[in-house]
Amino acid sequence: MRSLTILGATGSIGASTLDLVRRNRDAFRIVALTGHSNVVALAALAREFAAEIVVIGDEARLPELREALAGSGIVATGGAPALIEAAQRPADVTVAAIVGCAGLAPTMAAIEQGRTVALANKEALVSAGAVMTRAVAQHGTTLLPIDSEHNAIFQCLAGNDPAHVRWITLTASGGPFRDWEFGRLAKATPAEAVRHPNWSMGAKISVDSATMMNKGLEFIEAWHLFPVGVERLRILVHPQSIVHSMVEYRDGSTLAQLGPSDMRVPIASALAWPARMETPCEPLDLAEIGTLTFRRPDEVRFPATRLAREAVVAGGAAAAVLNAANEIAVAAFLSGQIGFTQIVQCCEDVLAYGLPSSPQCLEEVVAVDLEARARAREAMELVP
Ligand code: NDP
Ligand code: MG
Repeated sequence: MRSLTILGATGSIGASTLDLVRRNRDAFRIVALTGHSNVVALAALAREFAAEIVVIGDEARLPELREALAGSGIVATGGAPALIEAAQRPADVTVAAIVGCAGLAPTMAAIEQGRTVALANKEALVSAGAVMTRAVAQHGTTLLPIDSEHNAIFQCLAGNDPAHVRWITLTASGGPFRDWEFGRLAKATPAEAVRHPNWSMGAKISVDSATMMNKGLEFIEAWHLFPVGVERLRILVHPQSIVHSMVEYRDGSTLAQLGPSDMRVPIASALAWPARMETPCEPLDLAEIGTLTFRRPDEVRFPATRLAREAVVAGGAAAAVLNAANEIAVAAFLSGQIGFTQIVQCCEDVLAYGLPSSPQCLEEVVAVDLEARARAREAMELVP
């Protein structure tokens, strides 16, 4: 039996993870579950899975959570420090599935315990970069990617020497607007942006998929996880989302990982690693799917992947700045304050201000993140 903590249990990745746990009750014991605002869902999950402790990020909701858990014997706490304390509790596997840089400190706390961290929270790695990968090495932590592309690459690299890699190819669905004319993109609404053709996900990553910033963040994530060099990483649009990514070796062999567009597959791969576990996903029927297509990304309509590549090349604080600006711009778009194409424009504007010095520790990453958020708010007022 493995003990499991889920940071971001009330989200989309949290739900997929707990669905697998529900079907394999004898294999997992829940240590901590965390949410941010959804008290009702968090309390119900805590009771269902008999969690040792639950944490609500928004401390103002703690009394409500305690009331919902009255008589259960489950400990309930709240606020950012409580998230860190929960992440420090011994657990064999911690699923890091908070959205955004808000997940950075608890994810780092889990990494510092030196066990296994299954990472969905890509923004944390994009922001902290070397600060996080250094902590992973220093504490002997096993970092398993849940993001479907990185999980695919991780599987395709198994047993191979990265020195023999010619290319790592991240596939991208292209999002709901992949065939839209440039002029139409400016009028895209939040409702249209969150309606992803292949995947069901939280609002923020759905918008990131629509702008292709998700692939940009994943490019940076891959650069950290698989150090083969920026020139060996590329992106290919694959609208069917069946091939989740590929690794080509110097002898001309390409290994790809295929599967249904269901996050329970990569999550199961991380939860059971290095073994395998059952999932309820339908077997892949390639005859039924029939056609798999691929095309090069269009960085004129979707410049986000160019910005991400430039951030990798610039190094230092660039990726943290890009991520922070994007988080603020996506939130502004979702609340109707800016148009769709202004999201990536805002990121480009904030990067153009010039970069703070390279963060060397968690506190400095957080400082860079806060400064870039302030600049993004400023920049959006400048955008006509
Ligand atoms: P959701 O929006 O569905 O869930 C986010 C989770 O984080 C919820 O539990 C939410 O709590 C919690 N949360 C939000 N804000 C805060 C905060 N300030 N402090 C603490 N907790 C917070 O997101 P997803 O599950 O879609 O995505 C989670 C992460 O996984 C993201 O980094 C995303 O990029 C990544 N990912 C997601 C995929 C997917 O298919 N969904 C695929 C690959 C990666 P509450 O709901 O209670 O407010
Ligand atoms: Mg992904």
